[in-house]
Amino acid sequence: MYVARILYPVEVLGPGKRVGIWFCGCPRRCKGCSNPELWHFQPRYRTTPQEIYALILRIANENEIDGFTITGGDPLYQPEALAELISLLRGISEDILVYTGYRREELSDEALRGIAVLIDGEYIEERNTDCLLRGSDNQRILILEEKWKDRYERYLSSARNQIQNFMTGDGVISVGIHRPGFLGDLNEYIKRTNYGKGLDTSERKEKKD
Ligand code: SF4
Repeated sequence: MYVARILYPVEVLGPGKRVGIWFCGCPRRCKGCSNPELWHFQPRYRTTPQEIYALILRIANENEIDGFTITGGDPLYQPEALAELISLLRGISEDILVYTGYRREELSDEALRGIAVLIDGEYIEERNTDCLLRGSDNQRILILEEKWKDRYERYLSSARNQIQNFMTGDGVISVGIHRPGFLGDLNEYIKRTNYGKGLDTSERKEKKD
């Protein structure tokens, strides 16, 4: 499997302090995708569900984990690896929110097993209207496990989209629902302020094909 990054605490993609997991690999190439650097499988991101779980256990040993948000890339582009990882993560928290470019109807029940909340559908830049948790308004928030309904309804009625920036070894990672054109603005800001020195923006440009 290919996983590009794990961040904690992510507080802008679901309720509470969550572990964010970014899968690598997506065949869709949506215009305006905020993570084009994650479209391709990259050898340096090759790993196993057990390795990812071991890393997350280290976070869990010292921190409260309220849930997981798994995005990418498209996690459901690697369904077997995702299923294996989810079965491990559920031992820590069963609040597992997954983003995918597929529509729910295209996915088997087997592929969705263990997912509490699914946000489905491709990203359509022209329909980016600042919807909570969703990149564009064609996407749906589907609560697949009834027991999470109250929690998510409360969250959805009170939260608003926010951005969280993490400084990592790869530079600044900007997390959240971004408005169209944010990447250009972020790169401008980084150039102007030298914030995030070391961010490889050329990689993003090369892969916008
Ligand atoms: S499905 Fe998501 S990760 Fe894939 S290209 Fe579209 S926006 Fe990007």
